Amino acid sequence: MKIRGTCANCGREFLPEQVTDAGGHCPWCGKAFNRDYTALLVQALQQADRAGDVLEDALKDIASIEELAMDIDEESVLEPLRNALEAIRRRRARV
Ligand SMILES: [Zn+2]
Repeated sequence: MKIRGTCANCGREFLPEQVTDAGGHCPWCGKAFNRDYTALLVQALQQADRAGDVLEDALKDIASIEELAMDIDEESVLEPLRNALEAIRRRRARV
């Protein structure tokens, strides 16, 4: 998966690695996404990016097994992610 974010200041989209390269700032307008937690934010974005790929690859591995006698509950995977993303939206700063 490719995690994309949008800068609340300039409205442009970015990828986690662009935020890493920009030192926790928007790669387009240069604004810090948060004054105090820049390092934490960079680390967490990188971790989410890697973990998303790991999760997706693992699910694809399961999907590659033919005649699998199980289902994976879709909501058990998606609901916690949706809730976390919703919590991020609620934290959005007014700029
Ligand atoms: Zn920006």
